Amino acid sequence: MTPNIARVALPVPLDKQFDYLVKPGQQPVVGGRVKVPFGRQQLVGIVMALTDTSDFAINQLKPIHTVLDSAPLWEPSLFKLLTWASQYYQYPLGDSLANAMPALLRKGREAAPSALKMWQLTESGHNQPLTTLKRAPRQVQALTMLRQGALSHEAMLAEEVSSATLKALADKGWIEAIEQTPALRHWLSQFAVTEEKPRLNEEQALAIASVNANPDFGCYLLEGVTGSGKTEVYLNLLEPVLAAGKQALILVPEIGLTPQTINRFRRRFNVPLETIHSGLNDTERLSAWLAGRDNQAGIIIGTRSALFTPFANLGIIIVDEEHDASYKQQDSLRYHARDLAVMRASQANIPVVLGSATPALETLHNAKSGKYHHLILSRRAGSAQAARHGVLDVKGQFLEAGLSAPLIARMRQHLEAGNQVMLFLNRRGFAPAVICHDCGWLAECQRCDAYYTFHQQSGELRCHHCATQRPMMHHCGQCGSTQLNAVGVGTEQLEQQLETLFPTFKTVRIDRDSTRRKGSLENYLEAIRNNEYQILIGTQMLAKGHHFPDVTLVALLDVDSALFSNDFRASERLAQLFIQVAGRAGRASKPGEVVLQTHHPEHALLQSLLYRGYDHFAAEALNERKQAWLPPFTYLALLRAEANQSELVEQFLQQVRGIFETSPVASQDTQVMGPNPAPLARRAGRYRWQLLLQAPSRRALQQWLSVAKPAIALLPLAKKIRWSIDVEPQDLT
Ligand code: ADP
Ligand code: ZN
Ligand code: ZN
Repeated sequence: MTPNIARVALPVPLDKQFDYLVKPGQQPVVGGRVKVPFGRQQLVGIVMALTDTSDFAINQLKPIHTVLDSAPLWEPSLFKLLTWASQYYQYPLGDSLANAMPALLRKGREAAPSALKMWQLTESGHNQPLTTLKRAPRQVQALTMLRQGALSHEAMLAEEVSSATLKALADKGWIEAIEQTPALRHWLSQFAVTEEKPRLNEEQALAIASVNANPDFGCYLLEGVTGSGKTEVYLNLLEPVLAAGKQALILVPEIGLTPQTINRFRRRFNVPLETIHSGLNDTERLSAWLAGRDNQAGIIIGTRSALFTPFANLGIIIVDEEHDASYKQQDSLRYHARDLAVMRASQANIPVVLGSATPALETLHNAKSGKYHHLILSRRAGSAQAARHGVLDVKGQFLEAGLSAPLIARMRQHLEAGNQVMLFLNRRGFAPAVICHDCGWLAECQRCDAYYTFHQQSGELRCHHCATQRPMMHHCGQCGSTQLNAVGVGTEQLEQQLETLFPTFKTVRIDRDSTRRKGSLENYLEAIRNNEYQILIGTQMLAKGHHFPDVTLVALLDVDSALFSNDFRASERLAQLFIQVAGRAGRASKPGEVVLQTHHPEHALLQSLLYRGYDHFAAEALNERKQAWLPPFTYLALLRAEANQSELVEQFLQQVRGIFETSPVASQDTQVMGPNPAPLARRAGRYRWQLLLQAPSRRALQQWLSVAKPAIALLPLAKKIRWSIDVEPQDLT
């Protein structure tokens, strides 16, 4: 008997699947979409199984409305990965699958390229002797072209056949317009290496040979400072893959997808290349997705979500800047794209290369323990030298907008020598707080446990945690005094101060406020490269993916907040930022200098980072993590909960704690911490609490979560409270 029930995963926040009847003539496929009635609406879901039994009476099942796909959306290994990710990250399957699709497919659009306007010869067009058209050479050209077969309107225009010519021929009845999807052609016949390659150095050659030695799955950490030739290694790894007709997926951080990056790949290979990033509209996104699936692209470069693109014949995955925090999705399906890339490569049995100058401690641990191959590029490939660095002890020093006198003096030297200076401060706005000089009252967001940031340019107070903004007040909210002062320094204030300190040099500020408009970041970066600005200030946005050869002095203005943060990853992030900026400054003729301002120059991690390098820092930081039972030596999950009433949230998490503690899979190696108020205890009027779960292995954590989750969902409070599980959280706020 043919199965007549389809089990469907729907985009609803429920951990279950739904059964529908397959009507005669319908042919749903596992992994393909169907449109089904659900309550009063119709939803697009994915068929997970075809069966002939259901837990429900057959006569209660509704029939499928429409079968949307005749083939699965994803190749089997990717489909398996997606279902696995839904379980691993504890997010409902239907929602997870919907997340992985381009928006148009979620809405039920056909998973095929859209039809184009094409021209073809009519019967009489075929029979027309071209000699009758001697005085219309363009018409002759058009007819000649179309004798080979139908061509798209665009293709005709590209050959300088005008719309008017085509219309004239159509009016004569010799050609006709049709809607047709262009034929899919494999790019392999066009493939070529179109640029001369540099001679590889020994380490590059060794790295490439190691990966090429085994075409099967293997995970490789390619560690090398900026400029050590990692991208050149990627290009060399791609060549044999593409030459064999296989495709390559390259993941880059959100900010890293610059025209320069893309151009390096375009220059090297004649192969269709697609990019996938947040700037695409729905149509472009679908088209890039289809190019992967139908093998119309040889290379796809994209940010996090590009990982979910299907490929006809994927041959290699590269994750550039693998330590970057933007690889972790912070809501809905909270996946880590680097970790999933490794899983995907393993399922597809192909190599995956993780590149970084400053590998994540997790990745380094895997490399040191032999799980990943460790490939090292220790020298800069070009001629640039490593930057010098030092600390400036600012204890007891007068700081002018966060700048110490020795730093200002050094800036002057570098600027007067005709170079650029880059300053990092991870706080945007003018000042992080406003205080009343008479009574000490601080202007606080009404909806969050946080102070307002003062933005002078707009004359506003803004809360950086919720969307609240209000005009700057003139009177203290407590005593009515007019003595309101801004305290602390943000990038806006720094910018203003620098204009006073260095009136003959131009300052540019790069942060989320100044680059809100599309394209403005690119424009600023271009202007910086053209030396239109000499002083660059920014948040860490400025650190990633850009090389500024004329910057010879880089200063991190406040490293203490990272050294003494209660986020255990803060020092790792500081170290990564430091190495990144040190690698981006200067060139051979102009060696760079990197300076850190701190009140704690003796801090052990700072010392080891500065004087012994990232690897030593990482070894010590890993040791600390081991002592403290932190990742990568244990595995964490964060259960976040929030509601309008604080007591309810705490009560809920107490109950949840009970569920985890009494779980049959709990052991003496599993630990529940909390409930504790979140570091930002109230946001947008909602009270936030969290529970931290710790387990000795991924497997143990998985079991523990999977057993507990259904029980949590059954708690009466679970419906009144917004809660979520973040598996292997990157951010503990
Ligand atoms: P990374 O990706 O590690 O920052 P790149 O691959 O971009 O490093 O290399 C930095 C610069 O050195 C680039 O301009 C690149 O063309 C050049 N380069 C890389 N490898 C070599 C080599 N073997 N010989 C000469 N130049 C090289
Ligand atoms: Zn707020
Ligand atoms: Zn006051």
